[in-house]
Amino acid sequence: MKQSHLFTKTHKNISQQDVSINAQLLERAGYISKLMAGVYTFLPLGLRVLTKIETIVREEMDALGSQELLMPALQPRENWEISGRWDTVDILYKLKGAGDRDLLLGPTHEEVVTPLGKEYIHSYKDLPQAVYQIQTKFRNEARPKSGLLRGREFRMKDLYSFHATETDLDAFYDKTIERYFKVFKRCGLADITYLTYASGGIFSKYSHEFQTVTKYGEDTIYLCEHCKVAINKEIIEDLKQLCPQCNKKELVEHKAIEVGNIFKIMTRFSKPFDLVYTTEHDEKKLVVMGCYGMGTSRLMGTVVEVLHDERGIIWPEEIAPFKIHLISLLKADIDKADDLYNSLQKRGLEVLYDDRQDVSPGQKLMDADLLGMPWRMIISPKTVAHHSVEIKARGEREAKLIDFQAIPEFFGLDR
Ligand code: ATP
Ligand code: MG
Repeated sequence: MKQSHLFTKTHKNISQQDVSINAQLLERAGYISKLMAGVYTFLPLGLRVLTKIETIVREEMDALGSQELLMPALQPRENWEISGRWDTVDILYKLKGAGDRDLLLGPTHEEVVTPLGKEYIHSYKDLPQAVYQIQTKFRNEARPKSGLLRGREFRMKDLYSFHATETDLDAFYDKTIERYFKVFKRCGLADITYLTYASGGIFSKYSHEFQTVTKYGEDTIYLCEHCKVAINKEIIEDLKQLCPQCNKKELVEHKAIEVGNIFKIMTRFSKPFDLVYTTEHDEKKLVVMGCYGMGTSRLMGTVVEVLHDERGIIWPEEIAPFKIHLISLLKADIDKADDLYNSLQKRGLEVLYDDRQDVSPGQKLMDADLLGMPWRMIISPKTVAHHSVEIKARGEREAKLIDFQAIPEFFGLDR
């Protein structure tokens, strides 16, 4: 992508209301644009990041053996009456449809997926099953002031599993935990994201959060440095409590962001919707369910909260919009930079090419730091004289001169 053609430009400043780091950096760099509190446009660069995150999530959920579908965001009141949540959930966006029909914009999809399960699950032979979607969700959050961390309209992956027995659900639940950690690792959040007990006492095995430790997180967790599990403050009774797993050490308090939340919802929804199956012995039993959420747009905001410095974002390779930011400081012979750009593209490398002629070198370097591609590659009269380019990783200080011929090898490709 030539930067001279890019729809967006970087901004010096953004509205003062956005105090969170992710909103500041993502808006200044032109990844997202705020329409109103908690509602953002994903601009071309931002959509590339979100799509990459969602591709990772898709790969890991497919590897679990679950199948992707897409449910409607518009849902009828009747289903929420059946579950008893029409009047009890306070963040619902309710609206009137034609014929004065009561509708809502989906904040979650148990009320759609459970009756859907009834269409296809009848016998023990139809179980287990798991489906997921990646979709825009709507929640009328009280004070959305943390950029992508808390939206009123936001992206979520939600997966629902159906089982004959609790034992079968338990095994699937544990496999999901492993896949969640693969997603966080690929997004650059390994080692700071912890499995967290979300509810206390006898319920602790029914729900877990995934919390990423960072100083501006909204949640407070207590972490056992020894076994790397945490407890959410909302449920902890005694702050001097020992780790529920190893029974040792004192727990250490941290701020964190909830990037995922999984629940064994058991028969909470299969009961009101009468989702039953016939056993081998011809008995009718309620289907046992699990539900597994992950905020993909919140994950994007979390990465920025964690991976940045005073100059801008530092994207991890797998989710960066482009791998290389090629910056041309050539005034004459600009076709040398064009040729390099074309040859990198031909090798399958994703390149953002700063070909702008009317922008100063200083501004170009500042923009590159703010935008945060993993590799900065400068071509200038000085490097061209050495038949080379200057390459630097975004997170590092030292740059190296690399011969034109050696560039493919540098990026792990054949010459
Ligand atoms: P929170 O406690 O942060 O309000 P929640 O427990 O209500 O979230 P779930 O219903 O479990 O969230 O949703 C699954 C995931 O969706 C969360 O773990 C989070 O990553 C994401 N999520 C929830 N609410 C929002 C929001 N308003 N904006 C962005 N992502 C969200
Ligand atoms: Mg939660």
